[in-house]
Amino acid sequence: MPNRLPALTLAGCLGFATAAAAASAPAGRLVVLGFDGVDAEYTERLVAAGRLPNLAKLAEQGGYARLAPTTPAQTPVSWATFTTGRDPGGTRIFDFLRRDPQTYLPTFAVAEEGRRPFLLGRANRPLAVVLGGGVLFLAAAGALALARRRRPWLLAAPAALLGVVVGWVVGGWLPAAIPAVVSRRAGTPFWHAAGDHGIAGTVAHIPVTFPAAAFPHGHLLAGLGVPDLRGRIGSPAFYTSNPAFTMATDNEFSVEIIRLAGNSGTVDTTVVGPPNKLFPSPPRIEVPLRLEVAADRASVDLSTCGQRFTLRPGQWSGWVRLVFPFNPLVKAHGWARFKLTQLDPHIGLYLQPISVDPVHAPPGFDISAPRGWAGELYEQFGPFKTVGWAIDTWAPSEKVVDEQTFWEDVELTVGEFRGLLRHFLASDDRLLVHYFEYTDRLGHILWRAVDPDHPAHEAATAARLRGMLEDGYVMMDEIVGEVAATLGPDDVLLVLSDHGFSTWRRSFHIDTWLAREGYLALAGGGGEVENLENLFDRGEFWPNVDWRRSRAYHLGLGGLYINLAGREGSGAVAPGAEYERLRRELAARLEAVVDPATGQHPVSRVFLREEVYRTFDPQLIPDLIVTTSRGYRISWQSALGGMPDRLFEDNARVWSGDHCTLDPDVVPGVLFSSRPLERRQLAIIDVYPTILRLLQVRSPEEPVGQPFL
Ligand SMILES: [Zn+2]
Repeated sequence: MPNRLPALTLAGCLGFATAAAAASAPAGRLVVLGFDGVDAEYTERLVAAGRLPNLAKLAEQGGYARLAPTTPAQTPVSWATFTTGRDPGGTRIFDFLRRDPQTYLPTFAVAEEGRRPFLLGRANRPLAVVLGGGVLFLAAAGALALARRRRPWLLAAPAALLGVVVGWVVGGWLPAAIPAVVSRRAGTPFWHAAGDHGIAGTVAHIPVTFPAAAFPHGHLLAGLGVPDLRGRIGSPAFYTSNPAFTMATDNEFSVEIIRLAGNSGTVDTTVVGPPNKLFPSPPRIEVPLRLEVAADRASVDLSTCGQRFTLRPGQWSGWVRLVFPFNPLVKAHGWARFKLTQLDPHIGLYLQPISVDPVHAPPGFDISAPRGWAGELYEQFGPFKTVGWAIDTWAPSEKVVDEQTFWEDVELTVGEFRGLLRHFLASDDRLLVHYFEYTDRLGHILWRAVDPDHPAHEAATAARLRGMLEDGYVMMDEIVGEVAATLGPDDVLLVLSDHGFSTWRRSFHIDTWLAREGYLALAGGGGEVENLENLFDRGEFWPNVDWRRSRAYHLGLGGLYINLAGREGSGAVAPGAEYERLRRELAARLEAVVDPATGQHPVSRVFLREEVYRTFDPQLIPDLIVTTSRGYRISWQSALGGMPDRLFEDNARVWSGDHCTLDPDVVPGVLFSSRPLERRQLAIIDVYPTILRLLQVRSPEEPVGQPFL
């Protein structure tokens, strides 16, 4: 039963106290630990089994409650609400995609990538020519004059010419424009409001904080939203010498597969770096990578970018510095780890998504605030992942690496981030907000192991994978215990997640449903299958849609838009009564859909936007938000505009747990507090006013939620 603690779990143990007991504000510090995707039901089960002693103790001394996520229960959406106290209508972060109503084309909802002039833009080269010629001319003429040579101005002319040539060459190395990212999140973060009141704060890795925005007395390390060096959410590469290698999947997550010319002796290949968005050519920047297989085939020596290291099968490299030269002046700096996954009979080499090196980050690419802070952390602790989606779920999802490799990545990454957390705890800041993503990634990849009815459940591996998931939750408990041990009686500790998890057994192709039921009119045949790679690169997102005859369309994960006259480019539905009638018709018909294979309703509830958002931009926000029942999710294909020729299919993928389109009641998160809770019905939107009340800071606007401490 959602939002209510099952009686068997923590009765009598997870207490919560009255409002009177919770009224006093702390004089000490406030530590907020965020763990993405920690599921309430699963947590309660582990607490009851005695596996999470530190969380159990926290609940006993303070309180515990299930935490209702936002609608939809998506990571950027929920954390943006956590950060600003606004619902998704107010934060403008309501899905992972938004659309241009005029063209129907999607862009990322979280941030906008544009371009901005670099230095003087197109005038860079002429300026370099003038400067080069002028400086060398003046220097030469001055020197000649000092040497009392006759007619120094004339003699200096060749130097001027040299300067012009140098200026022309160097000026050509300067880009006229560089990419610039702008966050689309609206609202005031609570750490900003606290900073305005003189409260120093450190905020690490919270999603939707890129580019990092400075706030008074504050330090911020950006989280989800920071792209990898290739400008993607995460793009791993897999090198194989197996000529017969084929993907076991349709590679929807677009792992870069690089074929090696041989599997013995010296094999030359490249590391693929960033696409070239600065100059006309080449299309992307690569650096050489050489593999030298030992004669006894026990190891491989790798060399790239001036580094050489040896890997045995199953071994990870340390951090490898990768420098991609656009030209002698402009370079992209990053770092990443390799793992040699196999050597016999074929080489399998895995390269993780490349993190941008903050010390050499391009202008505007602000991973931290102050901008130089991430670089200082690097100087102190060595490299750490800066890419926002730090745990690579793409390679295991496409089965190019196994779960063991995925788990090793979790341990390595979390270990480094725990080192940062210890450093932050040692500061004097009164507010510390620290986020871990790995719990969500474990849920996505491993949930099939806890659901015996999942199509990808394998009895042979289930116990081992369940162990990894459980170990991940135990690791969270250890982190909580370590932090709690550093706090004094006046300090407050909150531990929370943005949403929970559900098994994802069946996919619902909602775009196909819309087409079949005549809401989305097709000019051609339909039946297209899409992948993420061509989501933004192709010219046309909706190749076959006849907009003048279409009444509704779906975009992202659960966002349903009416093709509204006056708003959409080829709007076909009149505002007013026709719009309202269609919204209610769609909601009722979707909720009535039955999956013939199971007899279940795939759609749980369809919300009218005004039912779940207090204020919103009617141009931006979906007219309806579709949520799915336990076991169901809207398909990746529908998220990408694809229309396979069927309504449902089994999800036999590694990516087997989800929450993105689940009814929020099905996927509650958790909240643990070192202080007693005033009530038990809590939502993530209540956290903002609670934190501000604890810090005795007035909210910059009337919050939607209610404080609970
Ligand atoms: Zn997730």
